[in-house]
Amino acid sequence: MNRNLGEFEIIKTYFSALALSAKGAFNLTDDAAVIAIPAGKCIVVTTDTIVQGTHFLSEDSPNNIAAKLLRESLSDLAAMGSIPAYYNLSIAVNSNTKSDWFEAFALGLLADQKKYNITLIGGDTVATSGPITLTITALGLVDKGKTIRRSGAKFDDDIWVSGSIGDAALGLKVATGKLNQISEANKNYLRSRYFKPNPRTLLGPKLVGHVNSAIDISDGLIADLNHICETSNLGAKVQITDIPLSNAAKDVLSIKPDYIDLILGGGDDFELLFTADKSFQKVKQKLTRALDLNLTKIGSIISGDSIQIFDQYGEIYPLPTFGYAHF
Ligand code: ADP
Ligand code: MG
Repeated sequence: MNRNLGEFEIIKTYFSALALSAKGAFNLTDDAAVIAIPAGKCIVVTTDTIVQGTHFLSEDSPNNIAAKLLRESLSDLAAMGSIPAYYNLSIAVNSNTKSDWFEAFALGLLADQKKYNITLIGGDTVATSGPITLTITALGLVDKGKTIRRSGAKFDDDIWVSGSIGDAALGLKVATGKLNQISEANKNYLRSRYFKPNPRTLLGPKLVGHVNSAIDISDGLIADLNHICETSNLGAKVQITDIPLSNAAKDVLSIKPDYIDLILGGGDDFELLFTADKSFQKVKQKLTRALDLNLTKIGSIISGDSIQIFDQYGEIYPLPTFGYAHF
């Protein structure tokens, strides 16, 4: 039966099962959780909030909402080089949020907990008269002093990206009915890249010690590269033809060439962008094989503070409008 529940019933029925494997979560029955930090490690902490109507729609499946919420944080942990460990979940729900929604949401979290080896250890549950608002604070572990920073890029570093770029932005177009000319298979692929991105949780920790800087692509390829450039006080040049595209994205571009701006500017891919010196080439071969994940060099770090994009004719291509504007 689809019905309304009280705060403690929600915690007990849907969330305590997600905390079973963390002893220090005390089955979500105490005031707070306790975690032991392994010797030589430090904790990386990140928080993300999503709001109904802004970051997801009322009709989105709770399973996809759960995945998007958790994976966003997992991507931040990966970008810093840390391994996922625990998370806290804060939910503000309203009288339209009924048992069916919680059940599907919790099942979505459970599936991702298994996939990414992370465990719920606490949170908060409140009522709101406004839109559903969901917050995750995730904790990852990394060797002390080894976190990868945005600010570490060096002059002449190569710029690398994982996977393929632009799929999520195109997936959002598909999801909102604005990209109908491509095959169903390509539509499904792009949609899933938007709703269920694959945070690079295995790659991030393996980059530790081999790269100089990293960021996850959540605002857009060029916007996030710009974050690396600004914090590192350097510039960058990027070759458009070197940007790795999925077959589906290539198909879209053959029909709508101007969508290249969505690939450069769109966000939510949750791939990793990182910079490293030439010796990374050797590491790259091993990583690609071990993780079955493409790593592609798309440009290099230059002096100055500008980002230059070059098209297939070697001409400067105009910068896309930067990322998603929240305010
Ligand atoms: P307090 O009132 O002392 O802050 P709560 O009654 O809000 O405690 O929460 C009781 C326990 O349930 C705490 O351990 C808290 O971490 C956990 N909890 C509450 N809401 C959630 C949630 N949405 N997900 C996971 N754990 C939760
Ligand atoms: Mg509370």
